[in-house]
Amino acid sequence: MPERGAGGAPEPQAASPVRSGVFTDTHAHLALVEERLGRVVVEAVLERYAEAGAAAEGGRSGAGAVSAPFIVDIGVNPGDLAPRLAGFGAYPFLRFAAGLWPGRESLGDPEAALAALAADLASPRCAALGECGLDYHHMEASERAQIELFEAQAAMAAQAGLPLLVHSREAFADTLAVAGGVAGKIPVVIHCFGYGAREAAAFLECGCHLSFAGNLTYRKSDGLREALAAAPSDRILFETDSPYMNPMPHRGKPSTSLDLARTMAAAAEIRGVALEELAAAAQANAIRIFSGKKS
Ligand SMILES: [Zn+2]
Repeated sequence: MPERGAGGAPEPQAASPVRSGVFTDTHAHLALVEERLGRVVVEAVLERYAEAGAAAEGGRSGAGAVSAPFIVDIGVNPGDLAPRLAGFGAYPFLRFAAGLWPGRESLGDPEAALAALAADLASPRCAALGECGLDYHHMEASERAQIELFEAQAAMAAQAGLPLLVHSREAFADTLAVAGGVAGKIPVVIHCFGYGAREAAAFLECGCHLSFAGNLTYRKSDGLREALAAAPSDRILFETDSPYMNPMPHRGKPSTSLDLARTMAAAAEIRGVALEELAAAAQANAIRIFSGKKS
């Protein structure tokens, strides 16, 4: 029950994310969403966040208070923070990350890419390093080259005291080795977690957080659901990875942060808790992880 002052009108969770359908999205690619769906759609999505934030601010009172939802806009290529700030920097509830995805753009010249990243990390708007990691599915470069780029970024995040947002596909053991090396120093988030319960347990054991996306709702994702059901509530986050990973029934279509509501509803059911309770736990985790360096 939200605590209300004496005589306060019963105002049932006006700012509730369950009511508004707006939840904190810890991983979105707003520029790619704009590319797919257009500026008007992105602005409409962001307007919904602004409204939900204003309602949360207005309803702030006591221990049951709801805090404003936010979106973390993710970087993938060297130098991509500046254009993202130019496009979306005016929205105060957005947080920005900068990182190097293990692809040709960065692995063609890793040194130059890392230098560009270092410059982006120095921005006061940069709240996290990511995404970075290992992708042995797309395999745009050798495993060795990917690991080196990932290790360099893990070290930079630890040095800067920034959370590390990790992409990992078909690369469980190597990801665990690098992520586990820094998870005691900084928050490490395995984004769009796509492995099973055994891998989840190993990541959790070494201190990582798991972020779940729309693939949680896909038919063949039993291992993923098992992982979510077993994870402690203070170590889970939720994201869209928009424009990708649209939860059912819109799989395959470009997603936006507003599609997170269906992922959250599925997650609450999988964990056997009320959506309100799950949303509150996920929000507390997101605030704890992304509040180190305020934008
Ligand atoms: Zn991503």
